[in-house]
Amino acid sequence: MPTISNEERDVIHDIFKKLTEDELVIVMTLIHQVKNKTGAYHEIKGFGPDLHSSSLFLANSSGLPKKASEALSSELWHLVKADIDRERQNKAGIKYGTWIYESYLCKYPAHAKLKNKKFPLSKGVRVGLFKRINTGQLVGCRCMAKIVIPW
Ligand SMILES: [Zn+2]
Repeated sequence: MPTISNEERDVIHDIFKKLTEDELVIVMTLIHQVKNKTGAYHEIKGFGPDLHSSSLFLANSSGLPKKASEALSSELWHLVKADIDRERQNKAGIKYGTWIYESYLCKYPAHAKLKNKKFPLSKGVRVGLFKRINTGQLVGCRCMAKIVIPW
């Protein structure tokens, strides 16, 4: 089950630094739910790239301020989109990708080391004995996978 690491928590705190503690709890809960495909996951998926509608939905249902709802709708959509892309690639028989990192796209400097690495799209890159990471799996990571055509 995907969780929120300390590193990711710091990035989230930085994006939402103007929020109160109570509001941050709401943000963390929504991120956790969407990562686990529960809660607002289906709504966010349904709105797709229409961030205007999803941020209105988030503001109305969570009570978060407008600016925070806008930022959150963008972060949640990126998490969902990474999932949708992986599903689509899997169905198309595309198994491998190479990691694309740009410092202006990603808030995790450690991802620079993953640049150009080839990895299985369904599993992500191995970054430790029992740990793997996939593109767009963390809030604030806009790393992408360049697909490797299987023929
Ligand atoms: Zn990244």
